[in-house]
Amino acid sequence: MEFNTALLHKNFSGDKASGSTMTPIYQVSAFSHSSAEQLEKVFNNKAPGYAYSRIGNPTVTSFEARIAALENGAGAVACSSGMAAVTMALLNILESGDEIIVGAGLFGGTIDLLKDLEAFGITAHFADEVTPQNVEPLINERTRAVFAELIGNPKLDIVDIESVSNLAHRYNIPLIIDSTTATPYLVHPIDFGADIVVHSTSKYINGGGNAISGIIIDSGKFEWDTEKFKGMKEYKKYGKLSYLAKLRNGIWRNFGCCLAPFNAFLNSVGLETLGLRMECLCSNALKLAQFFETCKDIEVNYPALESSEYYALTQKLLKGKGGAILTIRAGSKEKAFELINNLKFATNATNIGDTRTLVIHPSSTIYAHSTEQQKENAGVFDDTIRISVGIEDIADLIEDFGNAISKINN
Ligand SMILES: *Cc1c(COP(=O)(O)O)cnc(C)c1O
Repeated sequence: MEFNTALLHKNFSGDKASGSTMTPIYQVSAFSHSSAEQLEKVFNNKAPGYAYSRIGNPTVTSFEARIAALENGAGAVACSSGMAAVTMALLNILESGDEIIVGAGLFGGTIDLLKDLEAFGITAHFADEVTPQNVEPLINERTRAVFAELIGNPKLDIVDIESVSNLAHRYNIPLIIDSTTATPYLVHPIDFGADIVVHSTSKYINGGGNAISGIIIDSGKFEWDTEKFKGMKEYKKYGKLSYLAKLRNGIWRNFGCCLAPFNAFLNSVGLETLGLRMECLCSNALKLAQFFETCKDIEVNYPALESSEYYALTQKLLKGKGGAILTIRAGSKEKAFELINNLKFATNATNIGDTRTLVIHPSSTIYAHSTEQQKENAGVFDDTIRISVGIEDIADLIEDFGNAISKINN
């Protein structure tokens, strides 16, 4: 099955009972059962079925099954947000005293989260770039995971997950990849050795900017050493599904960060056009980046540009495409603000992966809680503008940015 066909048909065939082409929105809290015996079985995983929507809901299950299949995973658990997915993916295997190694170019919310986790005895070590050379010296007997964004948002650095997963596996450590900005259209991280994949599905998978959500996909391939990961002992019997079984029966259900059925439905609708949107978005982003290269006093960062240090990795991992985010530097904070204020079509908002082009000044917003050093490590400078390219016609986008740039230069 090719990609666009898979979006519609892989692990999905509508609602068999009614013939409904989409899984309906089961907008309920609870599911009734014919007998107390039956509900006892469902509650104790002795019979399939649903009891309560915090624990499971058919609309959500359908979305999870489609994403798991698309990402070549053993299964998936959907969450109320991308941040919930990142949090649950980590806390499912961490305990007080544990350490993780992460990329410095992470999403601002994730950097804030890692600081929050310090209060629970979990320490994150930052690697400037997630490469085997940088990661290996940070590994010790307390290390329990390597976590990285495949395409850093907004640093746009690309992790060679093949070499990093090889290293992590030599030390019996799983590689967890946030693949939000890469999307399944560009890469299936599991095929390159990632063990757990997370997405903020609020972004490209939803695609219309109309619901917050996240998802965790497990490859089912990592061999959990129960001396290292003591909590996994009880779940080893689930084999390929042990990580997800622990998650579902433990911290995910008890933190209560379930995905709402309505949002799962919106995501399933959005998912079906992911391929069409990404094709247009990546093409627009490259053309816009090439346009910025011709602009005096503007510095552009986009991994699929031949001038980018990540060009070779886009060829190796991402089918030569660079995704739909680029950053530019305008020369000063004032100029960056003026440029944003001069734009007609690009909307000033904190989101990515919408149909419309979005811009933001990350230093004063998403990274407002970060130190100067953290900002610099994440590729966020005082004059940086992040652009999440939309599906508008490229001629209009180039004209809009061209006009806004010429105004600040006057
Ligand atoms: C947006 C984002 C998140 C957080 O997702 P939410 O759905 O906003 O909670 C995590 N990682 C990356 C790379 C993101 O872009």
